[in-house]
Amino acid sequence: MFKKKKAASPEPPDPETSPATELVETAKPGEAAEPAPRKRGAFAFLRAGLEKTRAGLRSLFGLREKLDENTLARIEEELFVADFGPKMVEQLIEGEAGLRAAWKRGEIEQQDQVLEFLKSRLKAMLSHKDLSLREAPQPPTIYLIAGVNGTGKTTSIAKLAHRLLEEGNKVLLAAADTFRAAAVEQLTIWSQRLGIGIVTGEANSDPASVAFKGVERARQEGIDCLIVDTAGRLHTDKNLMRELKKIREVLARKVPGAPQESLLVLDGTNGQNAIQQAEVFKREIDVSGIILTKLDGTAKGGVVFAIHERLEIPVKLVGIGEQLPDLIPFDPGQFVDALFEK
Ligand code: GDP
Ligand code: MG
Repeated sequence: MFKKKKAASPEPPDPETSPATELVETAKPGEAAEPAPRKRGAFAFLRAGLEKTRAGLRSLFGLREKLDENTLARIEEELFVADFGPKMVEQLIEGEAGLRAAWKRGEIEQQDQVLEFLKSRLKAMLSHKDLSLREAPQPPTIYLIAGVNGTGKTTSIAKLAHRLLEEGNKVLLAAADTFRAAAVEQLTIWSQRLGIGIVTGEANSDPASVAFKGVERARQEGIDCLIVDTAGRLHTDKNLMRELKKIREVLARKVPGAPQESLLVLDGTNGQNAIQQAEVFKREIDVSGIILTKLDGTAKGGVVFAIHERLEIPVKLVGIGEQLPDLIPFDPGQFVDALFEK
């Protein structure tokens, strides 16, 4: 997905007259209609979102002298601080194809060669993964969104819906977090801002029944994409995992192959704790991809690589701000360039 499917219809709400591009209530009208970083293209947009991580890694940019043990130790430390995680750092620095070995072999002598070395190694690690969102052969395509409360699930659903709408899809939301009234309310507000439909259930009703109703309505209305929100209590909660499994079963029974994606939302500012959350979800339910949020608010952007490494679940989308356009497909090449751009 994330390519033009057909002529944009229905029209996404006019940013001049609708607050749809504002995620924060306090944003001034019109201010978010055309977020400034966007004008500078997707790469600059990503670069701005990663500013905090970049700031941390910046001391590596100006390296000039010959490489030595001290500098290697410093590089290692910076990568740890940026949350690349022990295994990634080990691979990048100590491993057979790592920086130290390349230095010992004389392939790298100058410190300024280090950045290019790290960039190419990181790109190579991620290049073979398929990061596109899967689509159903026939609509509706169904995306199930899971994650612990506060990670940015509902916001990401709104952003994803916005993207799919822009690509010309008809989008429907299902509020299967029936546990908290506020969750349904929040998603309903989003559906209104985006000008799309939403399926809800009674408070504390069976979340799977809301998912069921969502599919029925998607079929009736010729919906291209159905996005299902779910509850997000503690990831160790057995009932939550049972609920999620049941929702998956209902979706799969109604539409063969559904959900096309089970996307787990992780908060990038949680660093290595996000990985522990993901390990539990991965064990309990089939997670096909990760939405990593709040990369704009953290110096720990390296967690993207740690996730790929440790979990073998691809990061498919990244959140880099609070506005609707601030959810972008994860492009390893662009990401690495943005991280190490001077
Ligand atoms: P949920 O409980 O998982 O549904 O989380 P919400 O969608 O309600 O988001 C929790 C908070 O995180 C809200 O204040 C969002 O605006 C904020 N948020 C979500 N994604 C991002 C992001 O990519 N960047 C920033 N800076 N904030 C985000
Ligand atoms: Mg929510």
